[in-house]
Amino acid sequence: MLCLTLTGSHASECIEQFREYRNLIHLVEIRLDLLSDPDRDEVAQLCQSIDVPIILTCRRKQDGGAWEQGEKLRTALLLTCLELGVSYIDLEEDYKRQELEQRARELSVNIIRSYHDTRKVPEDMFARLVKLSKRGDIAKIAVTPQSITDTHILFNVERELADMPNKIVIGMGEWGIPTRILYKRTGSLFTYCSPEGTSAASGHLSAKTMAELYRADRVTQATQIFGVVGNPVMHTSSPMIHNPAFHQSGLDAIYVPFLVDNVRSFFKLAERLPVTGFSVTVPHKQQVLPFLGRISREVKLIGSCNTVVRKGSLWKGLNTDFYGFLQPIQAELEAGTIRKAVVIGAGGAARSVVWALRNYRCKVVILNRTAQKARKLAEETNSQWDEISAAANQEHVDLIVQTTSVGMEPNDQLNPVPDFPFSGREIAYELVYKPQRTAFIQAAEQAGCRVVYGMQMLLAQGKLQFESFTGLSYPQEPTDSTS
Ligand code: NAP
Repeated sequence: MLCLTLTGSHASECIEQFREYRNLIHLVEIRLDLLSDPDRDEVAQLCQSIDVPIILTCRRKQDGGAWEQGEKLRTALLLTCLELGVSYIDLEEDYKRQELEQRARELSVNIIRSYHDTRKVPEDMFARLVKLSKRGDIAKIAVTPQSITDTHILFNVERELADMPNKIVIGMGEWGIPTRILYKRTGSLFTYCSPEGTSAASGHLSAKTMAELYRADRVTQATQIFGVVGNPVMHTSSPMIHNPAFHQSGLDAIYVPFLVDNVRSFFKLAERLPVTGFSVTVPHKQQVLPFLGRISREVKLIGSCNTVVRKGSLWKGLNTDFYGFLQPIQAELEAGTIRKAVVIGAGGAARSVVWALRNYRCKVVILNRTAQKARKLAEETNSQWDEISAAANQEHVDLIVQTTSVGMEPNDQLNPVPDFPFSGREIAYELVYKPQRTAFIQAAEQAGCRVVYGMQMLLAQGKLQFESFTGLSYPQEPTDSTS
């Protein structure tokens, strides 16, 4: 079940939010602490407009909420609102006033007994959950993982406390996002989400994202889990490439972003969940290599892996950047019209690009800010190299490929080679995909060049990844949500 936390500061705003998301969610949390001046009449008006079960919460500041007016007033407000037909009340583990708890039981309002830690995952988390559930209430912990190891601990709850049916386990912040999406795999009764453009708690995803992109409430024990591993990772468009394609192909599968600080720890979690396959992004494309039982020819050549799939008891590494990069310029490469290419950058993506171009016997010049790295890649691939400032001196270039991270949001005004002398006859290929029209692309367009956008490569490599994950062809063009 998806629970929409209403984030408006007035009843009218909350009612609008509820109406907008009514068809996506199953219950609603009214947060009294987020209302600017909550009173019985306002909450009554709100409750009358909601036709799904309601959770009543008044979260204190120390637990991540906004309530600062003391316990006496909080109890009085909760007591009066309890009478308005709510189904659940959220009371913190250290809430001691008997009258509220007693009245909730008289009214058959379910008690969610919650514990919050906005800084860490406490060592005694399992014991705390057991204690919270002592009186037959729903035990809820909302804690803050600080690593992928912490995230793994939250997924262990389902196994360790399998006989505790009524529990909610939430990892807050970015590390916890997989626990929110895969809430059923933590054994949780429901997961919380917010209206678009707002966030009631750190790590809340929007109701639309939860319901339409991830279809989180459809996950079962049989659902195959895929994902993307990176740091940072939330900017990636890959969930928008894979999740709609799983749905269109009729597959019971989900693709989730995993923020990962330690690759070894992620592989442990991947075995535990289990994960069937995953994309790899910065900075882990080399770091996954020691954990792979098999690698493709391209991974061996490039020394970098962006796709991992389970093959029996082994993990196999592939590199779809190699072929994804080639696809938009395949016709020119096959016609032999790209003879000389300049590659800006010498990082992980540049490695795939240079190897792919050398595979077609193109002459390649690598230009990089750190000249040493350009030199190393040039030596490996039998290419030429120079410092990035030498961009101004390049002549007779058929293809220029921009592989640095310069120009990515939020620094989208920057062009790593502002002095490159475009003649208008080059193909200008940008790897950055957010924004679509980078400063580099704009300069190339002004000169009259044919341009290839980063999104074209992203989609091409994503489709190949989908095929490796599922053995099926990619169903159709993804929606505009990838842009
Ligand atoms: P990476 O391994 O970290 O390499 C980053 C590259 O950018 C290095 O060459 C680095 O130069 C250069 N760089 C960074 N900041 C710079 C600056 N201020 N001035 C000049 N050069 C700078 O990253 P990566 O994996 O290669 O990814 C690079 C970009 O490609 C990212 O934007 C990524 O999203 C994009 N990408 C897109 C696709 C796609 O499908 N469209 C696929 C893969 C990657 P130094 O060596 O001097 O540090």
